[in-house]
Amino acid sequence: MPVDLASVQPSKSAVLVIDVQNDFVSGSLAVRDAEQIIDNVNALLTLPFALKIGTQDYHPDNHISFARNHTGKEVFEKITIFPPAELLAKRKHEDTLPALEPLEQILWPVHCVQNTAGAAFVDGLKHECLEVVRKGCDVGIECYSAFEDPWGLTNTGLEDKLKSKGITDVFVVGLAGDYCVKSTALDAKKHGFRTFVIRDAVKSVSDEGTEWIEMDEAGVEIIDTTEELLTLKTFSL
Ligand SMILES: [Zn+2]
Repeated sequence: MPVDLASVQPSKSAVLVIDVQNDFVSGSLAVRDAEQIIDNVNALLTLPFALKIGTQDYHPDNHISFARNHTGKEVFEKITIFPPAELLAKRKHEDTLPALEPLEQILWPVHCVQNTAGAAFVDGLKHECLEVVRKGCDVGIECYSAFEDPWGLTNTGLEDKLKSKGITDVFVVGLAGDYCVKSTALDAKKHGFRTFVIRDAVKSVSDEGTEWIEMDEAGVEIIDTTEELLTLKTFSL
């Protein structure tokens, strides 16, 4: 289906720049060719979006997603993780809610540790205009989505931030396409935002490309090039 950009209003639109951080560009979990999206992301940041969000994966160094923190486990092995009891205990009416399923977790190299250079925005990204949202800050919870963890036990406040500004449309770009970009876009759609992902401002870990099919099937709208937005009349200042 062709993407209808003519109806997009900058005053009701936000750009979500996902995890353009040193470790994902040139560090311990570098996504191939990630540096190639920086110019496109910077070009998007010149547009008059009502809100410009930059997310950071931001883990404590004993985080559950690091292979190093699991004796005898290797990077990229999978383990099963369970919702942390202390967070379950905080759920209202926990006894009446459906049980939360355990999840498969891929074990990663140590990356984006809080207060390290690896977690900082990459050099060259014009991040001064970005409002920062951090995720993955809880030891026992992985959080690919910029909105909330997969169990919905913790959230970053992003949904409230967008809705309080009257945002209806979000444009998602950044790293990595098959993990945090995809999870964020699917959650944005789920929360009722018209959701776009811009293909030439995204790089993925895998070359398979299944994330694009999955996002498309969920109703996320895929824009091929950043240029399509840069040339849009409604976005010209
Ligand atoms: Zn992470």
